Amino acid sequence: MWNIEEIKEKRKIVNDKLKKCSNAHDKEALALTSLAYLRMLCDTKLDKSVKIYKLMDKLTCNKFTLIKNRKYNQMEADIVNNLNQYVDYDFKDFLMQICKNVLNDNPKYDDIEYTKVAVDVFKIKDTSKNFYASLGDFELLSKALKTLNTPSLLNFVYGTHDRFDNCRGMTYLDYVYENAYCVAFINGDLLDYQTLNHEIMHSVDFYSNSKMFTDNYYGFHEVSTYTVDYLFWDFLESEGYSKESVDLLRQARANYLASLARHVYTEYNGIRQAMKAYGIDEQVDFDINMLKDLLELESAIIAYILYNKIKADNKLGLSDLKKFMKTKLDPNKTPDFNFIGISNDDILLASKTLLSNISKNNNKGKLI
Ligand SMILES: [Zn+2]
Repeated sequence: MWNIEEIKEKRKIVNDKLKKCSNAHDKEALALTSLAYLRMLCDTKLDKSVKIYKLMDKLTCNKFTLIKNRKYNQMEADIVNNLNQYVDYDFKDFLMQICKNVLNDNPKYDDIEYTKVAVDVFKIKDTSKNFYASLGDFELLSKALKTLNTPSLLNFVYGTHDRFDNCRGMTYLDYVYENAYCVAFINGDLLDYQTLNHEIMHSVDFYSNSKMFTDNYYGFHEVSTYTVDYLFWDFLESEGYSKESVDLLRQARANYLASLARHVYTEYNGIRQAMKAYGIDEQVDFDINMLKDLLELESAIIAYILYNKIKADNKLGLSDLKKFMKTKLDPNKTPDFNFIGISNDDILLASKTLLSNISKNNNKGKLI
């Protein structure tokens, strides 16, 4: 379990440093770390003072937390709003094409009720350890074990997340002491296993090369985690979980990605129609949320290509995955994945069958 006293202590130190810091890069690292600590304290209800915030919020219709968090949220908003990532006409066109392709291949599943399983946190941790060991790569395993074997970096909370309905896990990044803190919200179903395993991969990514908002093209942080999710589903089957129950995890992901595509497409077309009504026939500017959703779609596709590479040639595929995690993408250029052998044409092609491939698991056979 996270050591709350230690986190509070570190937060004080980081906040003090932040007040004195004038270097923009260090300031970003300190601000993001301070925000991560605050969220860890609030989101997991471990800080006693949070109870008081909650009471105050009840009395003031959430105004108390809003005021209290404003300056921290403002720090993050300032960083995100000033990202200025390079997005030119062709890249927008490419992302919207991906979006359309994903929508055209929408298998649509009903609301998913995950299979209930007996859950204890030791088993969840052990399953993850076995999964990372099964990949057969010492570097990945040792990075995963750094978090899995350090109790103060892991936290399990029974129930759902306060602020995000669908969120079952989070990884908070401490750029100052170079730690990744994972939390999994436990609900007694198979998704609990996926959640911890996914968050652990965020920590592996962080230990491979810690990327901040401004020194990397922001938005591709799910590439490595999605790759691992795809592999993990197959692993669960090889561990004896039924295909039917694992398929629910696959279908939930397909539904989620379809909802991202649908959301962006509806918004994009709404704005475009409005512009046309005023006689403007131009490409729509993406706001930060549209861009984030589209980059997550692109990430899911890149991850699927990586997953197939790993299935076809374990060593080569994992080496590309590690190369991806170690590389920072220039925020002033269109993201290019040729350095891991993935072209935009590959991404476009894979986008046409992404959802149906994910949900029906075309890759038969053993994981490795
Ligand atoms: Zn994630």
